[in-house]
Amino acid sequence: SEDNKGASESLSVIGELAASAVHEIKNPLFSIRGFLQILDNTLSESDKRKEYVKIMISEVDRLESLVKDFLMLAKTQNDSKELVWVCELVREVVELYKNSFEKKKIQFRLQAKDESVFLWANKDQLEQVFINLLQNALEAVEEGGSIDVIVSKKEEKVMIEVKDSGRGISPEVRDKIFTPFFTTKKNGTGLGLFISKRIVENHEGKIYFSSDEGKGTIFIVEFPMRETTVDDRLNLWYNVN
Ligand code: ADP
Ligand code: MG
Repeated sequence: SEDNKGASESLSVIGELAASAVHEIKNPLFSIRGFLQILDNTLSESDKRKEYVKIMISEVDRLESLVKDFLMLAKTQNDSKELVWVCELVREVVELYKNSFEKKKIQFRLQAKDESVFLWANKDQLEQVFINLLQNALEAVEEGGSIDVIVSKKEEKVMIEVKDSGRGISPEVRDKIFTPFFTTKKNGTGLGLFISKRIVENHEGKIYFSSDEGKGTIFIVEFPMRETTVDDRLNLWYNVN
């Protein structure tokens, strides 16, 4: 539709800009961070300047996550779509988070009720959506909390749910979380959900959530399912194995 075309065009413009800017910004940031760390090590605890250096380090870290999120935008530049096996993609993303989950003693469960769900999608973009949702879940839960990912088929739709037992989203901010740069985190960028929503809409899907303050949040992503032929599945099988 026209709307979706608009969204993907602006995605690619921002993406192109981000791609070149990001690489120019990354290296100097890395070197600033390194020298600040050295400076920090040479100052004694009683030195007032140590506090300033700590602030600088924390601000550089913030810039670093901004750059990371812009890189994510750059990755969404390529708009080509292919047949994607949803369960496999989700497993790949979950793999990236294994260590972080273990470190925070999180009870993680992946439930793929129906293995045979396929989407016609851009794999990189889809991956970014689940990275964002898992990252937010990880940041929302306390040590020992739980995160569940559920993949299922409902009528003609594929549903992917990311559920956490975290702090929840307060009613005052519920309308704002998809707005670019809106964040409640000290080092947040407020870009994750904004980008995710763009991507999901670019795939004719929907993203929504339900949250209970203090108990947890569930984000649901819904896509129209792609019917597959035997050929499709054979191709995919050979690609994966
Ligand atoms: P960021 O993570 O950088 O803050 P996002 O766009 O990913 O930016 O999220 C925006 C805001 O939405 C977060 O700052 C947080 O307040 C809220 N949020 C998103 N996901 C969750 C979650 N799973 N639990 C609680 N709050 C969340
Ligand atoms: Mg985020």
